[in-house]
Amino acid sequence: MTKLLGGVEAGGTKFVCAVGTGPSDIHETRFATTSPEETLQRVLAFFSPYKPELAALGIGAFGPLDLRQESPTYGFITSTPKPGWQNTDIAGVIARELQVPVALDTDVNAAALAEGRWGAARGLSDYLYITVGTGIGGGIVSGGRLVHGLVHPELGHCLLPKHPDDTFAGSCPYHGDRCFEGLASGPALAARWGCDPAALPADHHAWDIQAFYMGVAIANCVCTLSPQRVILGGGVMAQSQMLGKVQTATAGYLNGYVRHPAIEENIESYIVLPALGSQAGVAGALALAGQKIEEV
Ligand code: ADP
Ligand code: ZN
Repeated sequence: MTKLLGGVEAGGTKFVCAVGTGPSDIHETRFATTSPEETLQRVLAFFSPYKPELAALGIGAFGPLDLRQESPTYGFITSTPKPGWQNTDIAGVIARELQVPVALDTDVNAAALAEGRWGAARGLSDYLYITVGTGIGGGIVSGGRLVHGLVHPELGHCLLPKHPDDTFAGSCPYHGDRCFEGLASGPALAARWGCDPAALPADHHAWDIQAFYMGVAIANCVCTLSPQRVILGGGVMAQSQMLGKVQTATAGYLNGYVRHPAIEENIESYIVLPALGSQAGVAGALALAGQKIEEV
């Protein structure tokens, strides 16, 4: 019997449902994220025809998520600011209705897994995938495994110093202008400059401030996690000048202290863009499903 894998990229803006085995073999559908009831019905409707062959299903979801197996609310989206989605049993509903083993992880962990298997971190045991979009999140692979720890990493909410020129009050409901996401997400850029960040010219000071926040955050990650590579995704990285600015800023803040040719000589291949682009999330969900089969 063929082992069909299912994947769900559960985003705050859109959901992608897919069956397949990897980025080169995906049959998918995308729809907007509405209410949990309606959205999950659409997920179930997509997978129902495949139910007899489906061996496992992976979900990479926006969070925060309860990933503690022993918790009564395991598999739930918990304290999300997204209206209507607090305390949504995303993994449980799908597992029960489709009668299939389900693996749930954060959207960024799923994307990190996909970049490691098929993309910009192939062959590496220690790397980060950071997305700078509507929110900021980071998936961490350490010693060849996704890091979960106590809950799961919340790299987007690490605390950062304020850029001296920045008077913006910040956009994080929990940390205001004190955390990475509150200072450097797409909505933070839009609120600080009063326009769609995509419309800001490439030579605008906005991007120096943005590179400061990203460079400080990545330098902190390099000091704490010692990744072999850092992958930067998300809508804000569509600004093509940003990658170089962030590379320069990160190396500058490390200031020669972390001695390795990857940082001192090859920063262009140390901090990179994703190789899978918009496919990373759903491909990562399929990779989570593949891992689940190995477990069961
Ligand atoms: P999501 O985080 O919702 O999955 P994205 O990663 O595409 O989606 O991020 C969307 C965010 O990225 C929005 O806040 C948007 O303003 C911002 N964004 C999209 N394109 C650009 C661009 N070219 N330049 C700067 N910011 C952008
Ligand atoms: Zn925060």
